[in-house]
Amino acid sequence: MRTRGVAGRPARLFYGILVYACMRRRSSKPLHQIKMARERIHILFGEADAIVKRDPKLAQRYMLLARKIGMRYNVRLTREQRRRVCRHCRAYLRPGVTSEHVVRRGTVRVRCLLCKKTMTLRYK
Ligand SMILES: [Zn+2]
Repeated sequence: MRTRGVAGRPARLFYGILVYACMRRRSSKPLHQIKMARERIHILFGEADAIVKRDPKLAQRYMLLARKIGMRYNVRLTREQRRRVCRHCRAYLRPGVTSEHVVRRGTVRVRCLLCKKTMTLRYK
């Protein structure tokens, strides 16, 4: 059954790793890791909020890290968090510092001052 030899083994090993990778991708992460990821994202948002006036680029970097953590652990940002990140360049948005908000009928137009693009948000 089992092939022996130099040629057979690496292929088997490779196949095993491939299957393992596929299985890992489908299953969700352990709950304690998901909780930890949420906490880390929360901390990054806090840090970004504290630093954005002095260094918007660093705040943008924190948002990139938060996004990376979210993708790794299948954690989505909360609604409030999503509204504070530029959809185009991932800058941390603070009205008057890195963004301009214009309120119209039922919508808010948020203009990012780092990439100069706008995103439109709805509200009830
Ligand atoms: Zn932007």
